[in-house]
Amino acid sequence: MSELIFLEPVLHEKLWGGRRLETDYGYDLPDGPVGECWAISAHPNGDCRVRGGAWDGQHLSDLWRDHRELFGNAEGEVFPLLIKILDAQDDLSIQVHPNDEYAFEHENGSLGKRECWYVLDAREGGDIVVGQRAKNRDEFAQMVDEGRWDELLNRVPIQAGDFFQIDPGTVHAILGGTLVLETQQSSDVTYRVYDFDRRQPDGSLRELHIAQSLDTVDFDVKAPTSGKIEAPEVDGVTHLVETPNYAVDRIRVTTDAPVTYAQDWSFLCVSVAEGAGKVSVGGAEYDLPKGTHFIAPSGCGDLAFTGDMLLIVSHL
Ligand code: ZN
Repeated sequence: MSELIFLEPVLHEKLWGGRRLETDYGYDLPDGPVGECWAISAHPNGDCRVRGGAWDGQHLSDLWRDHRELFGNAEGEVFPLLIKILDAQDDLSIQVHPNDEYAFEHENGSLGKRECWYVLDAREGGDIVVGQRAKNRDEFAQMVDEGRWDELLNRVPIQAGDFFQIDPGTVHAILGGTLVLETQQSSDVTYRVYDFDRRQPDGSLRELHIAQSLDTVDFDVKAPTSGKIEAPEVDGVTHLVETPNYAVDRIRVTTDAPVTYAQDWSFLCVSVAEGAGKVSVGGAEYDLPKGTHFIAPSGCGDLAFTGDMLLIVSHL
């Protein structure tokens, strides 16, 4: 029987970040604007440590390398998923990510980046950029060159509880006033298309990657008009998405309706996105305050959740 593996988040300062990871999630933040909490990650740019239990203090990458049985002997050189909470006080740059083939060839063997967003909070009347309107590479290059951003970029209104799947090759940006839980491939490769001509504190502009973006944009992606979740909620569980890299569920637990979630997978990544509660598994009970993130290892048994909370769960 294996115990749950709780992880200590890694926090990243970002120009566009704020302080809500402290005020809303209780994380200990360094000074300045903090945009990203890497909550479940074995990526070298933010490799989470285990908090408590048999593996206390070890990095997630160590467990992946030395104790693959915890992950159902899943294959791959690197732990494949990365779970983040993003606090976008200001707009993120307009960007696009490559697929696995392109990243492997052009980014030192890195994984590509498929990602998805569960919207935790959004500003009244807020929106987000998902998709673009150019029909082909030439038209895209021309619109970028002429700065026709309003024409090029597809904006979608958002509210808390929306969900967006962002496949590689999809132009996108999270805009100011948005709090998002992101489930993605473990990759840090981003091609910046446009940064609103913003200057950094030292007066410089951030680098753009127009050539790589032109290589990477998928002109067949259909731009969405809404992030409304269409899938039904059954016994508290909503299947948000299934992709070749991950599947993501939302679990809604209320005091009247506890939820038991079967751990039938190689491993589960679990995040307490809202509220708080408890989980019982394999005869042990754990407290789950808001902002807790853990891995339920292979064969740990079914997870019995009680309390009043919203969980985001992902697996391969
Ligand atoms: Zn992105």
